[in-house]
Amino acid sequence: MQSLTPDEIRASFVNCSKGEAKRLPLPTAYDAIRWPDLDFLGWRDLAGPGTAYVVAPWRGEPTGLVLRVGNRAGHGGRKNMCAFCLTTHSSSDMDLMVAPRAGAAGRNGNTVGTYLCADLACSLYVRKLKRPARVQPEETTTTEVRVARLQENLDAFVRRVTAPTG
Ligand SMILES: [Zn+2]
Repeated sequence: MQSLTPDEIRASFVNCSKGEAKRLPLPTAYDAIRWPDLDFLGWRDLAGPGTAYVVAPWRGEPTGLVLRVGNRAGHGGRKNMCAFCLTTHSSSDMDLMVAPRAGAAGRNGNTVGTYLCADLACSLYVRKLKRPARVQPEETTTTEVRVARLQENLDAFVRRVTAPTG
């Protein structure tokens, strides 16, 4: 993805208040971010385990999403596989992340939840720039296919969070 300035990142958030976007912690080691290797920028609020952030290119614009890191218990779904990059993890490396929907839907408590890599390093996993702790099922796909799949899954998620209610 194209590099973004801190101001562009803060301006990109669609599912939180302007005040929260202004105050949210930016990624640490900002200058070390390798933008060309990323399909989205994802980071955690290191001061507390409860919040994560994703900024993804969406219809030509950077689109930022606040995610609340949820309780794993009591939710269905494929808890060991990241919904974005399909990397399998042990449960400690995987989190349920819940995005308030944009606009009125989110203010009314409407959310979209999904299981994602706890470190949000999906872009690096699909490019084999970072190795997951767990041995992965045999894959014969190319990097291009894995990147395209990640982008598709990411797009689908952003679409669900930003879609108008109804
Ligand atoms: Zn992932």
